[in-house]
Parts: sequence; structure tokens; C-alpha cells
Amino acid sequence: MASPWVVDQLVPELLAELAITELPADEASELVGRLVGQAVAARTDSDEFAAVRELARLSPSLGYPLGVIGDAYYASEWLDCECHADSPERDAAAALEASLRTSNPLDVDSGLLLAVTAVV
Ligand SMILES: [Zn+2]
Repeated sequence: MASPWVVDQLVPELLAELAITELPADEASELVGRLVGQAVAARTDSDEFAAVRELARLSPSLGYPLGVIGDAYYASEWLDCECHADSPERDAAAALEASLRTSNPLDVDSGLLLAVTAVV
């Protein structure tokens, strides 16, 4: 089992670096999704659904936004459910994870990205 990947305390710093606080919520959500996907893709030991899980974890503190964070929050409902091991919901979660990991990389300071992806 991969170590837990803690991003929460770095998110405010990343939001500031990317000027996300100035953006409309839907654009900000999309950027956070790309960032988390990029960070997860940079790791070799992340959970199969690490990007979906991280975005889902952010959802409550952001007021359950729509967009990719909302999609991840919904998808996360089915990740650990035995009866959904082979289901359209799980397939959708896998597709979301794959699209997050392959979205356009952002121009983020490499040290900061490294810090986000560091094992803690
Ligand atoms: Zn189920």
C-alpha cells in the first residue's frame, strides 16, 4: 500500500502561485484538477485512484464545487465498495483518473510540485 499522500496544507500556496484565487470557480477547479493529476502522474507509487481521491478530499472545504472536483467527489463514492468492483461507476472513475493524469501539464515551480508529490 502506498504511503498516504498529503496535499492539503500545500494547496493554499499552490492556489496563490497559480493565481487561482482570482479565477472563477469553474476555471479554478479545472486548474486544481490538472495540478493534482500532474502531481500524481509524477509519482510511481501512488494509489490507482490517487488523483480522484485527492480532489474528492478537497471538495468539502471548497463547498462541493461542480466540475472536475465534483466529478471526483462523486466517483470516490465507488472506489472502495466491493459490490462496485466491476461496474460502470468504477469504469467512470478509472476514466476520470486517466484523464486527470494526462491533462496538460501546468507551469508550476518544480520544487513546489516536488513538495506536493513528496511522500510524507
Ligand atoms: Zn457498491
